[in-house]
Formats: sequence, C-alpha cells, structure tokens
Amino acid sequence: MGKEFVIGLDIGTTSAKSVLFNKRGDVFSEYEVSYPLIFPKKGWVEQDPYVIEKAAIKAVRQSIERSNINKHEIISVGISSAMHSLICVDENGEALTHSITWADGRGVDQANRLRDSDLGKELYKKTGTPSHPMTPLVKLMWMKEGNFNPYRKAAKYISIKEFLLFHWFNEWVVDYSVASATGLFNCKNLIWEPSALVFAGITEDQLSHPVPPTYVLEGLKKEIADEMGIPLIPFTIGASDGPLANIGIGAIEHGNTAITIGTSGAIRQLVSSPKIDSKEEIFCYAVTKDLYVIGGPTNNGGIIFDWLKDVFVDKSEIQTAQNIGRNPYDLLIDTAKKAEPGSDGLIFHPYLNGERAPFWNNTVRGGYVDLTLKHKKEQLIRAALEGVMFNLYYIYQAVERTAGSSHSLYASGGFSRSSFLVQLLADVFGQEVYIPKNHQSSAWGAAWFSLLSLGYVTDLNSIKESIPMDDPVSPSRENHRIYKEAFKRFTEVLPK
Ligand code: ADP
Repeated sequence: MGKEFVIGLDIGTTSAKSVLFNKRGDVFSEYEVSYPLIFPKKGWVEQDPYVIEKAAIKAVRQSIERSNINKHEIISVGISSAMHSLICVDENGEALTHSITWADGRGVDQANRLRDSDLGKELYKKTGTPSHPMTPLVKLMWMKEGNFNPYRKAAKYISIKEFLLFHWFNEWVVDYSVASATGLFNCKNLIWEPSALVFAGITEDQLSHPVPPTYVLEGLKKEIADEMGIPLIPFTIGASDGPLANIGIGAIEHGNTAITIGTSGAIRQLVSSPKIDSKEEIFCYAVTKDLYVIGGPTNNGGIIFDWLKDVFVDKSEIQTAQNIGRNPYDLLIDTAKKAEPGSDGLIFHPYLNGERAPFWNNTVRGGYVDLTLKHKKEQLIRAALEGVMFNLYYIYQAVERTAGSSHSLYASGGFSRSSFLVQLLADVFGQEVYIPKNHQSSAWGAAWFSLLSLGYVTDLNSIKESIPMDDPVSPSRENHRIYKEAFKRFTEVLPK
C-alpha cells in the first residue's frame, strides 16, 4: 500500500501547530504548542527562536503519537510560517538576537521616512511591500542606524522558518513569499533587490537563497528526525501563512477572496502576475513565478469584538452566561441585534489598535462619528461591529482596484463562530460567504504543496475537491443597500 499521510506544520505568531492529514485532507490528529511573546522594551515584540524550535519538534512528535498511525506511512512535511520575522545569526545559524516579530514597532521612524521618500516609493513598486516597522528591511535600517551590535556581527539575517530549516537540514533557503514580505525582494524578478540591500546596509550573501514553495529538502538530520519521531522523510519549504490559507481554503481562482477575522484580520486574492497598488495601500507578494498574493492586513479584527465585550458586557452577565454554557460573544451580539442595520446613522472607525492597511500608520486612532442623544448601547455596539466590516470592505476595494473584483468570499477565523457576524460580512460586501468545515487552512495549504512537490497530486487547483465546506451564506440585498450608504459616510469621515 502507498503512503497515506502528510503533515502540515504551521509556525504561527503564538504557537506551532502540526496537523496530520490523509491525502484527501481529512484531519487525523493535530497538536499545538504555544510560546510567549517577549516585550523587552516599549514597542518591541520578540520571541525566543530556540523555544519555537522546541515547540515545532514537540508538535510534530505529539501529532503523530496521538494519531496511532504507523510513522512509516507519512510521506512528508510541508511548512507554513508567519511573515516578517528577523533573526541575526552567526555562520553556524546560532541566534545573536531573538526573533523580532511582525508586531515589533521599533522601526517606526525609519518606516515613516522610507514611506515619505521618492526612493521608498520606487522601492515599493519593485518589492510590493508597504513601508512599515513590521518588515525586516525597516528593522535592518533601524539596526544599521543604531550601530546595533548583533547586526554588525551577524553572518546572516533570516526569518524563523530559515532558522528551523538551517538547524534541521543545514541549508540556507527561503521561499519566495517569506522573502517577498521582507521588503528586500524584487517580486517581479524573484531576486534580492539591490537598492533595498543598500538601504539595509547588507549584501546578498547575508541572505538565504530564494526558492519556490515546492522546493524539497532532503537530508533531515537523524537526531532531529528522532526527536520528531519521524523517519528521514523529505520536507517541502511551503510558503507564508497568508497565501497558504488562500490555497487551503480554496480561494484560488479569479473572483475568490479570502477573508480572515481572528484577533487581527486580512483580505487576500491570488493572481497570476505581480500587480502593484497605485496608492500603496496593499501588498503584493510572490508565491511562485506565476502566482502572487495581493491583500491587506488589519490590526482591528476580533480584538475590537473583545474590546466591546469588555466595555459593554457586565462581568457578572458573562459569568452567568458561561455557567449555562452560553458564549459571552452572544451577549454582545444579542444587544447589537436590537439596533437596525446602519445603526441609526452612527459610524465607528475601528482603528483602536493603530492600523496597517489601508493607512500603514500606528498613530491613527478610532472613534464614533455622528453620535447623537438618540443612540443607545445597541447602536454603539452594532456600529462598531459594522465598522470592522466596513474597514475590511475599504481594504477590499484596494484589492479590487488592483486585482479585479470578486463574487465569493472564503472566510476563516474566530468570528465565523457567530452566524450574525458572517451574515453581516455577506451583507456589507454583497457577496456569498463560504466557510470551510475544518479550520487548518494554512497547514492544509502547506501539506498540499508538499504533495504537489513530490508528485502525489498534479496541480494546485484540485485542492478544492478536498476542502469540505458548509453551505454558503447569501447576502440580503436590502441590507447591502443600507450598508452601501453607511459605508459611503464611513469613508467621507475617515480620520486624516
Ligand atoms: P487568532 O487570530 O488569535 O489565531 P482566532 O482565529 O481564534 O484567533 O480568533 C479569535 C477572535 O475571534 C477573538 O478575538 C474574538 O473576537 C473572535 N471570536 C471568538 N469566538 C467568537 C464568537 N463565538 N463569536 C464572535 N467572535 C468570536
């Protein structure tokens, strides 16, 4: 009998998750190991790469042990990882710094300067990466300007996925999408961009060799295989979590948009050639030589629902709800339902957490607009829920302007547990919303790339047959009309 199983290993911001699938995409087992964020100074957000390495190894081992399958039945491992991490390492791949995450804000001055300069605007057209403290380019500029000691000593500047792969395979390689999100990579030519290297003050040999997501690594170190509890199987490099989520959820073809609303949120479309936004509101990252991901991340997704819950729902009510097995978010939504769509003209800008797309500005702030004495708690809550969706719609318009319009949304993330919020998304966008039954989209996208790279499947698109979906949610035309008007007002009064 041929081998049956494949692992998707997802190195996220808060945890490493190993998901064991059969070739049809059924989840056999999964195991997640969390790790902390470290805040050494105000605005700095780091992680210990060795802790992440241990977590990844443990996650793989546990996912296999819990499945009761024979480990010799496993074909390979495909990898997904969060973008924008940066680690300074020596020539042996040992870390001289923590992994500096996408959430780190130390380079805000460098990012602003780059954004406002003509050279920075030229660079965006080549890299497709907006100027922002999240990018390794901006972090390197900060290090260069501050004469940061580990930067001066480093042999290489790498991401967390490269760190793991060098430790496990002794190869310096980086997939196109992780490379693309550094701000140092020319997304059209698929090479490190010389003018970006000048800004960063580094040379090409201090970066890994860029490869497509189907690149296969053989020669796993025996001691790592033993720790993971796997035979010496191949690993496929995969991509970053964003495009892999599109693939793993089935939002691949023209007209399909993927939307994630977890703590933060994102909108992404896949296209076949690089398309750069004329207004620099969104990103364009290479995935393969003929597949690109275009989209925008928002800082203000579910975190706003959490804020609303803290501000508007009484702690004793939450306790009572939990005692009877009710979800506390339902209390919030029950109140929002008492208001009419459009919240009686009340507008909410959800920028409580600064914002990436569309403004790329950490100092932008949120607020209510057009607030009057007639507005009650239900309008305040509903307007905020609507505001989160309007902001996503605003980012979608930039994606549409650049990549073309869509007719279907493929949604994932914690918000999809609420049928009210899914309906609100459908109504604001005026599009059908599809939700997958299993929520391991990035891991399944990574596993699929691995099956593709080893010849077990023949193309990317056929993954759609292996993604069980719930029935789609259709928009209400009447509500869409109301939201179109409210959205117009939302954009008219956007913060400057
Ligand atoms: P993360 O982005 O951290 O991986 P999730 O995708 O699980 O996390 O999303 C978490 C968010 O989902 C929470 O911040 C919350 O706003 C939202 N959420 C979770 N459960 C519900 C629910 N039942 N109804 C509405 N929103 C929910």
